[in-house]
Amino acid sequence: MRLRNVKGSREAIADSAYTINNPEEMKGKWKEYFGNDHPIHIEVGMGKGRFITELAMKNPNINYIGIEKYSSVLVRALEKLDAWNETGKSPVKNLVFIRMNAEEICNVFAQNEVDRIYLNFSDPWPKDRHAKRRLTSKEFFRRYDQFLIPEGRVEFKTDNDDLFAFSLEEIPLAGWKITEFTHDLHHDAKMMEGNIMTEYEERFSSMGNPIHKLIAMR
Ligand code: SAM
Repeated sequence: MRLRNVKGSREAIADSAYTINNPEEMKGKWKEYFGNDHPIHIEVGMGKGRFITELAMKNPNINYIGIEKYSSVLVRALEKLDAWNETGKSPVKNLVFIRMNAEEICNVFAQNEVDRIYLNFSDPWPKDRHAKRRLTSKEFFRRYDQFLIPEGRVEFKTDNDDLFAFSLEEIPLAGWKITEFTHDLHHDAKMMEGNIMTEYEERFSSMGNPIHKLIAMR
């Protein structure tokens, strides 16, 4: 992903009511933070946040946490929320963001604290020596194992053939099962049900790239 340094993005994130600046302090306390017992769904590598923001608006009884490594990208999600709130419509209360590298994710969520994980158009890290950085690597699935509820699932979408093939092989190596998958999501009526497009999904599918999707559970 090409990144532009967005001036003031770090400050905007630090000042926003929608970001958690010391997420390690929230470990085991997320329900307390949201003030209810609703399930918690997270998106790792949320980019500019369209997917998770739309989900949060659609499902007020689920709490959403978006995780993104770069301030310059995350700040775009904050701008969308600010613009929404300025329209005078009821503010979004079930969504927050964390700027962090997901390699540290186990410091932020306690056992059974998360009900679902979304991974959308994750960076492919094509070099073999960087495989551990892929969000669908066995190293990452071992992390997810530590905080996802036993019946929880990971949903992963990508247009990248190599990353998807890697993921289909790799995820079972971490002791997970692929319960469903498709190589052409947009022509799979069942898996497409309730689909929310991400920024990358819109871009790549409009170029004619088929979208792969898988669901993984233990
Ligand atoms: N999910 C969005 C979408 O589908 O439009 C963005 C996709 S973009 C290709 C991948 C995003 O994941 C980037 O914004 C990148 O910074 C973020 N990302 C990659 N590795 C990450 C990590 N280890 N921790 C947090 N974010 C990460």
